[in-house]
Amino acid sequence: MADLVNEFAFSWSRYKIFYQCARKLYWQHYGSWGGWDGDAPAPARLAYRLKQLKTLTMLVGETFHAELAEILRRRPPTPKGVPVDRLKADMERRLLKRLRESRNADWERYGDPKHYTILFEDYYQRGIDAAMEAEAKDVLHRSVEGLAAEPFGRRMFTVDPTQFKLIDPANIADTRVVWNGLTLYASPDLVIADPGGGLHIIDWKTGRPFKPDLAQLAVYGIFVTEKFGVPLERLTAHLIYVSARTREEHNVVEGVEEAKRGIETYVADIRDRLTDVSANVAGDIDRFPMTQKRTLCRSCNFRELCGRLDEPALSASGEDEADQSATAAAG
Ligand code: SF4
Repeated sequence: MADLVNEFAFSWSRYKIFYQCARKLYWQHYGSWGGWDGDAPAPARLAYRLKQLKTLTMLVGETFHAELAEILRRRPPTPKGVPVDRLKADMERRLLKRLRESRNADWERYGDPKHYTILFEDYYQRGIDAAMEAEAKDVLHRSVEGLAAEPFGRRMFTVDPTQFKLIDPANIADTRVVWNGLTLYASPDLVIADPGGGLHIIDWKTGRPFKPDLAQLAVYGIFVTEKFGVPLERLTAHLIYVSARTREEHNVVEGVEEAKRGIETYVADIRDRLTDVSANVAGDIDRFPMTQKRTLCRSCNFRELCGRLDEPALSASGEDEADQSATAAAG
């Protein structure tokens, strides 16, 4: 097998992590590199494990996305209704399996933190109690019902499936494009063509509505344009809050200038800190300082590595976190 290369890349998740805490970006993408190897140095192995942690909120979002994507990929060409009962049952089964994995620390037993769930709440807190589990199931059920109630959600089960251009890519190669010589990762939930030649980028949200980041939508737009050759002006982004039953529509062009500035600043800032720019090596951890905002450490996966365990852990609960998880997995 060819050697894996830690390629220099941009993703919206990397951007957000870096400007929140440079050390966090270091652990996520540099200090954890190679940590899957049992012979790697202890900090790399620990960072690799910690980067896999996710909160219950993230797990709920991931579960919804994964099951919906699975069913859309296998959709027959004949139109049908949203399979509400099946989706609920499959999502619940997946959720419970992953809760069990984490509770039983299967990642430790099988020595595989990447493929067995590790919940932040199990690792740093007192675990998931019955009320939290019931609420998680309830969010999934509400989200499926919201999907079935939303005209756009229903359309996903009636349009010709050949119009699906991209469904929640599981393969990392499908989340990668090269834009102006820079590798860029993005992972839109769904890209679907309309008969007029435009493309719609769909982002399912299981949490509460929040002010969208137009630059992030623009990064999706750049990604889709590079991948499918359709100009930005022909793209529309849809944020569908399935559990809250609302939908927003955005023109991706709105955030493009801000996104481009963000990408440029990020690239310059990171390259400035690397000890070997061409090989993308960050050999000096001190160039990635820890945040002074210690409240951020309460909900950070890397608190054990940074020795910032003095304040009680806090499980972040925003949809934004779920997004970060998905994109971080890709990028
Ligand atoms: S624990 Fe705090 S300092 Fe360390 S990576 Fe996380 S946010 Fe940064």
